[in-house]
Amino acid sequence: MIIILKQNASQESIDRLRSVLDKHDVKINEITGAHKNIMGLVGDTSHIDIESLMAQDCVENVQRVQEPYKNANRKFHPEDTVIDCGNVKIGNGSLQIIAGPCSVESEEQIITTAVAVKEAGATMLRGGAFKPRTSPYSFQGLREKGIELLIKARSITGLPIVTEIMSAADIDLFADIDVIQVGARNMQNFELLKALGRVNKPVLLKRGLANTIEELLMSAEYIMSEGNQQVILCERGIRTFETMTRNTFDVSAIPLIKQKSHLPVCADPSHAGGLTSLIEPLSLAAIVAGADALEIEVHNDPRSALSDGGQQLTPARFAEVMEKINAAAKFMGRSIG
Ligand code: PEP
Ligand code: MN
Repeated sequence: MIIILKQNASQESIDRLRSVLDKHDVKINEITGAHKNIMGLVGDTSHIDIESLMAQDCVENVQRVQEPYKNANRKFHPEDTVIDCGNVKIGNGSLQIIAGPCSVESEEQIITTAVAVKEAGATMLRGGAFKPRTSPYSFQGLREKGIELLIKARSITGLPIVTEIMSAADIDLFADIDVIQVGARNMQNFELLKALGRVNKPVLLKRGLANTIEELLMSAEYIMSEGNQQVILCERGIRTFETMTRNTFDVSAIPLIKQKSHLPVCADPSHAGGLTSLIEPLSLAAIVAGADALEIEVHNDPRSALSDGGQQLTPARFAEVMEKINAAAKFMGRSIG
């Protein structure tokens, strides 16, 4: 339920409303916006009488929110959420480019790639230390050592780092990470989401392989309902009957999520298409559709990559793609960084 307050409501009348609401078992989120002041009520509001709220001096309107996601809902928070990720912001109208290898493999690999993506204009560095692989016999990531190497790459390049968590048991290892990624396979690992809700750090939440947009928003709700409001949603392609691509890039998810939610949206053209040749066109489509950030896999030597070799760009090709990304951002009136 949302309560829209009158612009000139007195503090006294707002306090009176709050004491009425305190009698119910609901959490009150107060949002002071440029155009509207709103109270969002989360919890069981079914027995709250709308008429009696409307009778309060400070209340302009009361609406029931039908959607099951509340904190993530744009009705609760009409203005875009802006998330601080180290020295960059996601969601403030700029475009952030998160680039780097699928997996952190060695010091030389991550540092070389980090320096190259920075040179080409990336604003954040990605790299997996804990890898969710389909086969237990495939490379599983350097784990703690991978995180140390990412931190080293950040100290050299200044790029904030994004890396994936797979288990809440590892959360302490992520204390010095700028953005914690939840991969597609863990989008509905609800215990992990709840644990991340108690951390004061941005979370990049990727859409599950076969999950709806509403399910993605409900997963964001798990994090937000525990307190952490810093969630970035990521469209990374979904499973369909198409076999020519690794997944099918759901470009309509980008504007739809932005209509339904105030959270920023990232697009991952690498895992969506699974083909280096699709990264440029999918990146451009995502920018035009309104993405706040792109996550692109780049490896200093993709042919020797320990994971996702077929979809990682060389630094030289990434630099070419960045030129087109810059042009598309300019066309959309956005600036990178
Ligand atoms: C990744 O970003 O490295 C990754 C594993 O992506 P996803 O979870 O989208 O498959
Ligand atoms: Mn990958």
